[in-house]
Amino acid sequence: MTRYVHNFYAGPGKLPGSVLERIRDELTDYRGTGLSVLEISHRASPVLELLERTEEKLRRLMGLAGDDAVLFLQGGGSLQFVMIPMNLSAPADAVDYADTGYWAAKALDAARSLGRDVHVAGRDHGAIPSALDIRSDTRYLHICTNNTVVGTQWQVMPESPVPLVADMSSDILSRNVDTGRFALMYAHAQKTIGTAGVTVVVVPRKTQEMIQSNLPPFFDYRTHAAAGSNYHTPPVFAVYVVECMLDWLEQEVGGLQVMEALNRKKAALLYETLDASALFHCPVPSDSRSMMNVVFDAVDPERVPVFCQEAREAGLLGLEGHRSRGGFRASLYNAVGLEDVEVLSGFIADFDRRYG
Ligand SMILES: *Cc1c(COP(=O)(O)O)cnc(C)c1O
Repeated sequence: MTRYVHNFYAGPGKLPGSVLERIRDELTDYRGTGLSVLEISHRASPVLELLERTEEKLRRLMGLAGDDAVLFLQGGGSLQFVMIPMNLSAPADAVDYADTGYWAAKALDAARSLGRDVHVAGRDHGAIPSALDIRSDTRYLHICTNNTVVGTQWQVMPESPVPLVADMSSDILSRNVDTGRFALMYAHAQKTIGTAGVTVVVVPRKTQEMIQSNLPPFFDYRTHAAAGSNYHTPPVFAVYVVECMLDWLEQEVGGLQVMEALNRKKAALLYETLDASALFHCPVPSDSRSMMNVVFDAVDPERVPVFCQEAREAGLLGLEGHRSRGGFRASLYNAVGLEDVEVLSGFIADFDRRYG
């Protein structure tokens, strides 16, 4: 019998048990083909239909416009750090970035490495900046909607007079967002909507008109849009897992509104527990706190090893903070249940009673 564990890893993150069971059940015979989804040609109709259906479901859940291109690419969030400046700006062009943490900083470093004139419109790794200084001649403003490492999240998206580009890798489809405000959105799947290997990129019609000419075809979003994400072999299995996750979100959870309400409840419970704790504290101010990644520290560093060991023994996994900041982090992605957060909150409160 497998021991029941609570998965708080930051990424790849938890998948729902029912999704894992579906993948297992369908693994050797995909939709009556007699083949596994792992071994079907990407030019054959079952895979073409998989790409179409998954795109269709994403359009519906994200509320996308009919002429937005929805792409399934490889290379993770990290390749998008490079493709965005390549597609939306020429080498010496002005581009603005909000530097709100580890990944946001990597994104702006990539633009800088390509020779772009990068301006940091706001920098804060402990909270969401209250105002941004955006240049008027800039090609776009890049933000990271949820800062996975430092535990902050844009609770209200910033006003932007220039095209707004967003890395939604760690909060896509965790809450309702007005997607019409964005000039480009991207998210790898492995945190909230699937597993590693595929990155969803949404490129609206107007943004496609901004794309530079003479890019190598592979790096040009239009190549992948024209080919229906089948310009080269797409990551078929990872797309299949995304489809399973979207079905789960729509049919089992009951849609994005219900998902958001549940995510709010999970995060509120854990933050309340931390705010009441004598041994732990969350350094993030409440107007910047992330619903997805709850970052916290021990008041007394001597308690850290014993907390980690006892948590592991209790089946609470993945609570170590990112290697760049230490401390603790509990990732409460879509698949993490309220019951998982109740167990963690109970464990923290009990630890407080025993050692506080
Ligand atoms: C995890 C993460 C990334 C890194 O993505 P890779 O797929 O590992 O390249 C980028 N952005 C954000 C916000 C992340 O959380």
